[in-house]
Amino acid sequence: MKICVLPGDGIGPEITAEAVRVLKALGLKFEMEEALLGGGAVDATGNPYPEATQKLAREADAVLLGAVGGPKWDALPREQRPERGLLGIRKDLNLFANLRPAILYPELANASTLKPEVVAGLDILIIRELTGDIYFGQPRGVREENGERVGFNTMVYSESEIRRIGHVAFQAAQKRNKRLCSVDKMNVLECTQLWRDVMIEIAHDYPDVELSHMLVDNAAMQLVKAPKQFDVMVTGNMFGDILSDEASMLTGSIGMLPSASLDDKNKGLYEPSHGSAPDIAGKGIANPLATILSAAMMLRYTFGLEAEALRVESAVKKVLAQGYRTGDIYERGTSKVGTKEMGDVVLAALA
Ligand code: NAD
Repeated sequence: MKICVLPGDGIGPEITAEAVRVLKALGLKFEMEEALLGGGAVDATGNPYPEATQKLAREADAVLLGAVGGPKWDALPREQRPERGLLGIRKDLNLFANLRPAILYPELANASTLKPEVVAGLDILIIRELTGDIYFGQPRGVREENGERVGFNTMVYSESEIRRIGHVAFQAAQKRNKRLCSVDKMNVLECTQLWRDVMIEIAHDYPDVELSHMLVDNAAMQLVKAPKQFDVMVTGNMFGDILSDEASMLTGSIGMLPSASLDDKNKGLYEPSHGSAPDIAGKGIANPLATILSAAMMLRYTFGLEAEALRVESAVKKVLAQGYRTGDIYERGTSKVGTKEMGDVVLAALA
């Protein structure tokens, strides 16, 4: 069980260190090796996804990633930005399916900006296609036209790409409440009309799953109006980027949300849904729970260790029930802890 650990930038190293401690505490035989990705990799090698990292990531069964990016690298040419490293590794490992659960733990119901009755008990799974769409489509660029600059990108999806993510989504829905909502913008974008057509075609393979469709603008509204109507949502790369961040805020803290990105053989990259939080980096106050829960997803999806995954998730629930909170989820009457102390109490709960 080989794990490539990529701490990355900002709070990345602080939060991955806690997830690594949790994995080690399980007493399993993991082989873990660290490498560079993102801004730190740019500084050291000039490449946000250096060759040594590529080799390690390809050989590993799973990758645990902190986060990349920060103001230090914002002015670099686009190909050298840390985020390019992230897009690069996803594409290189063919991680086409991004799974982001949005769960509201009862203890954190007040952390949401929505009324508790709207969000309490929320448990949805957003599945985002990750290697296609307008983020990768060609042609792209900025050109001169009639004496002014014109920016352009291309939204593109092949039938096989849509089918592949569709199967992941239907199968995920089968393991949950058997309801799948596919999100598109078929009223204006031909590309997403194809998306809808293909979803309807593959629905025949899953008669036990109830398929519905929603336009992305309505989906954005419904997520804040009545989020509990959803079970599993599936959508393309760009809409998924936006909707999964929106869904994450329903739960109150982005510091609580794990994610998994899988290839077709269950190799996966596991990372928190948040970024590198440069505003709090190095202060020892970042919430490590999203990264620890990402490690739990790794146990479940790549290594098939369901019991261990549940053990880690239960430990997280226990520390929340005990009242431990990092600053981002703190409320009066609870105990405020830093990154490392949160790791300590999770380890204690595991034991
Ligand atoms: P961000 O997620 O880093 O931060 C948004 C806010 O949430 C900040 O106030 C931050 O302090 C807070 N926050 C995030 N994670 C937290 C945690 N674990 N505990 C406590 N608070 C937390 O998003 P941003 O500010 O838009 O981006 C900062 C940098 O991260 C940028 O360079 C961006 O490109 C990069 N980024 C990277 C990833 C990734 O690596 N997957 C994703 C998004 C953004």
